[in-house]
Amino acid sequence: MLDTYNRPVISMRISITPRCNLNCIYCHHEGITGSSKYEMTPEEIVRICALSARHGIRKIKITGGEPLLREDVIEIVDGISKIEGIEDVSMTTNGTLLEGLAGELKAAGLNRVNVSLDTLRPDVFSMISRGGELDTVLRGLNRAAEVGLMPVKLNMVVMNGINDDEIESILKRYPKGGFVIQLIELMDAEHDSEFFSKYFYDLDEVEKGFEEQADDVYVRKFMQGRRKYVLNGSEVEIIKPMHNTEFCARCTRIRVTADGKFKPCLMRSDNLVDFLTPMRNGADDSELDRLFREAVSRRKPYFRDG
Ligand code: SAM
Repeated sequence: MLDTYNRPVISMRISITPRCNLNCIYCHHEGITGSSKYEMTPEEIVRICALSARHGIRKIKITGGEPLLREDVIEIVDGISKIEGIEDVSMTTNGTLLEGLAGELKAAGLNRVNVSLDTLRPDVFSMISRGGELDTVLRGLNRAAEVGLMPVKLNMVVMNGINDDEIESILKRYPKGGFVIQLIELMDAEHDSEFFSKYFYDLDEVEKGFEEQADDVYVRKFMQGRRKYVLNGSEVEIIKPMHNTEFCARCTRIRVTADGKFKPCLMRSDNLVDFLTPMRNGADDSELDRLFREAVSRRKPYFRDG
């Protein structure tokens, strides 16, 4: 399905819980404001994913909160991975519970994971996550690679004065083959300009360096035109969403909140489309189809020219 800006909508990012066992200082909570504690049942999640697949969604990323906190996460992955038309099921996780669950997730049909890894220093990790233990994450991501949830993408939100000096060490430690490093510029989805201006780290210079040194550069057409660099045995992507009109122009994603709403854009909370209330009131698929189309029609590039 194309939106009104001619962007194909082929990927969905679905939050299955607002709960998290960490409390990272920079977290944008997937753009969810407020404090809803609602979660959908596995049946509701699979139903909305299947319906979206019939509208052309091909890739589903499961997120949270922390998705691995749900006791029925394996059932959810199993259900989503069996949907006709879904080609890629992935999950973004903080990795703290991954060591024990990676094997079952793989067996249930999960293709790969993104693990948040902002630092290799235990004290910095504890500060960023407000009390988390780095070692659990390192064990989790290694286990994910061992069971074949690959490539394991390591999400590093680069922050001024906190971890900007660790890019090289993370690249060196996690080489190409099993791992891809994603360097992410801090986003201001919570609209907290003080935090943002203090810690925002511009990755332009880093990217220029990569362009000069890289053995190969790829442009990922359906991933907001991101560039992927291969250098010194590592694979690295740079993600620069803020004020990036190209990023928005190439966005192919619709979001689903944990409490059952379509969310057309990470950066906005004023254009959500509730489908869970009608679903629980007995809406048939044609009514839910209409709500999906309504959500797609509300998609609008957040950063755009003019
Ligand atoms: N708990 C899971 C995790 O850690 O992946 C899923 C939720 S978390 C919000 C999803 C991803 O969003 C993480 O990789 C995190 O690094 C990224 N993220 C959160 N806040 C961000 C921000 N302000 N700017 C850029 N990325 C952010």
